Amino acid sequence: MRPSSPPATDAATTATGRSPGLAPTSARAALFLVPHPDDETLAAGVLLAGHAAAGREVHILLLTRGEKSAVKDILNGVRTSHWWGVPHDPTVEGYAALTERTLGAARYRELVAAAAALGVTEDRIHEAGLPNDGVTVEEVKAAVVATADAIGGDLGLWAPSYTVDDHPDHLAAGEAVRQLGLDDPIRWGSCRYYVLPPYWSDPRLGSVDWCWDDPMESETAARARNACRAYGSWQPQAGVFACGYHSVYAMFRQIDANPRSLTHE
Ligand SMILES: [Zn+2]
Repeated sequence: MRPSSPPATDAATTATGRSPGLAPTSARAALFLVPHPDDETLAAGVLLAGHAAAGREVHILLLTRGEKSAVKDILNGVRTSHWWGVPHDPTVEGYAALTERTLGAARYRELVAAAAALGVTEDRIHEAGLPNDGVTVEEVKAAVVATADAIGGDLGLWAPSYTVDDHPDHLAAGEAVRQLGLDDPIRWGSCRYYVLPPYWSDPRLGSVDWCWDDPMESETAARARNACRAYGSWQPQAGVFACGYHSVYAMFRQIDANPRSLTHE
């Protein structure tokens, strides 16, 4: 449900004092497009936690479950992750070798746990069910419209950057939102684009109007850190495999040390 009255202040503002990461009407719901589980925590944990703490209705649209990730080979003992340090042996460790389907389910569970840490309940996680590494602009546009219709009311939209990134799924998601904004600026006028940490020094930032969102409250920073931990949990008998830490531990360590987000217009 929408909060009955808008919060007096926004929990997340920028170092410059602007709050471009936030929608103009603070009571407006927020929808975050997430191509793969972990993008939300690595690039937008501070934003999600800040909006949720401000009493805003926060939704996640998960485009894919990230089932094509090379972490499957790591968990199946074909490759070794730097974080774990030794090869896995599913037989010894008591779990069935992962398939794309079971890996997707495991990654989804990590997202649900991370979202809860950020203040977003599972009933506000929507799935587009698109194929990992096969996301198209048109499919994302259709999924955003359908999700926004189901949520109802005015929405602020956050999507991956349409230009400061190299992953085709991320770029397609950002481009879809950019095109929606061009097609119907009244409905989709409140859009911002988040940038993943590997691109925080990318020269392509020179072509966009970007800013930092730093947590203004210690609780927001704590929630962003706790979301990282959801991706490091290892309980194979419960179908929980630390997929995030096994694949991009350095990025989680970076966010844990200094939780912040970078967004552009
Ligand atoms: Zn991703």
